[in-house]
Amino acid sequence: MPDITTIAACSTALAAIMAITILLSWFKDGRSDQRNWVFAPFGLAVPAGVLLTFPDILPGPWGLALGWFFLTLVYGTAWQAARVMGGRQARPLALLLPCIAVLVFSLTLGAEGHMTGMRMLPRALLFAMFNGLAAREFGRMRSPRLPSATTLYWIFSAFFLFDLVRSPFSLWLPAPFGAEYPQVWSIALFNFLIVLEGSLLGVFVTALGREQLAEGHYQLASIDPLTDIGNRRAFDDRIERLKQDRAVTRPPAIAVIDIDNFKTINDQLGHAFGDLVIANTARIAREVFGKDNVFRIGGEEFAAIVHARRDNAIVAKAETMRARFEAHRHCAGNLSRHCTLSIGLARLENVHDHETAFKAADRALYMAKRLGRNQTIMLDASAPAPQALAERRANVGAL
Ligand code: GH3
Ligand code: MG
Ligand code: MG
Repeated sequence: MPDITTIAACSTALAAIMAITILLSWFKDGRSDQRNWVFAPFGLAVPAGVLLTFPDILPGPWGLALGWFFLTLVYGTAWQAARVMGGRQARPLALLLPCIAVLVFSLTLGAEGHMTGMRMLPRALLFAMFNGLAAREFGRMRSPRLPSATTLYWIFSAFFLFDLVRSPFSLWLPAPFGAEYPQVWSIALFNFLIVLEGSLLGVFVTALGREQLAEGHYQLASIDPLTDIGNRRAFDDRIERLKQDRAVTRPPAIAVIDIDNFKTINDQLGHAFGDLVIANTARIAREVFGKDNVFRIGGEEFAAIVHARRDNAIVAKAETMRARFEAHRHCAGNLSRHCTLSIGLARLENVHDHETAFKAADRALYMAKRLGRNQTIMLDASAPAPQALAERRANVGAL
């Protein structure tokens, strides 16, 4: 049967191994501030483990008190690592102050002969608070492309609940859960839980770091640098996500937008002016259709996802876009010009068949161009095939 010291020493050795592993695995590809915060809980677990296993290396109550202080810092820095991974500023003071308060409590009111029975309560509550705050940070990060953030959210939520529920029992339980004399089972279970949380944290935080790196590369590959909106790849991904979204009951419409006579604008005012017109189109389209609903799918061609219940509301939105663009004067240096665009619309009859809707919107755009440009035309996805369309166009011409 292993004794208390052996169990605690083994846990400390494991923390040291994890600290080195984390340091090595993050050395190459983690951001430096992120790397430091992710390393901190594992690094701090080593002095915590040493002091709690061999408290006599410091005089009086200092060994145990500082050991516990380092352990509270372990949980606090895990919370800060979560903040930094989510792109938020670290808050060292918000982490340090409660840890120092609990240290002072353990050396004064919680010291031997005073409120000894209560000395574990603030620590357990502090662990619960830091676990809860870390869970909140990972909860904010949850997205389909960062599955490890969801896992970490659940891990920290589970430990938050456990620490919260166990805290009142700290008045009766043996150390390290409570203030009573430690038992082998209580030391073993306590160390097991810390090693378990540390291992899960190590594995999933490393995985999350990699997922964030991949997400960064995805953003680079799917954002158009001229307009800062998604490209064709982002549009296809968005449609794919729409297909999987069970909450979508009424499928949206697709708008295909094309600047009129753009070649002439380029030829007469220069390529740089053309670029400015493209960037202005993206900006106006984002204002009208919503920031995440517009994509640049070709040179001077855009696609937009239009969310509206009724067809006339969809057409009205597209008309707003067309009219705002027509009214806008594009200016660069001493050059200025009004431009127009044409819009083809089609509703996704069925979310799973966006290709048909996209082709219908494209046909509608083609019609708008043929009918004189600077207009919006809506077709439904079951609209006539090109041959029938050509007949219809001939009829329109004959009118
Ligand atoms: P239509 O009204 O029928 O759409 O005529 P258009 O002149 O707009 O159409 P066309 O497809 O013939 O011309 C598109 C032009 O867009 C051709 C290409 O040189 C230009 N173009 C494509 N990408 C860019 C870009 O990134 N910047 C600029 N300035 N021009 C671009
Ligand atoms: Mg054009
Ligand atoms: Mg075009």
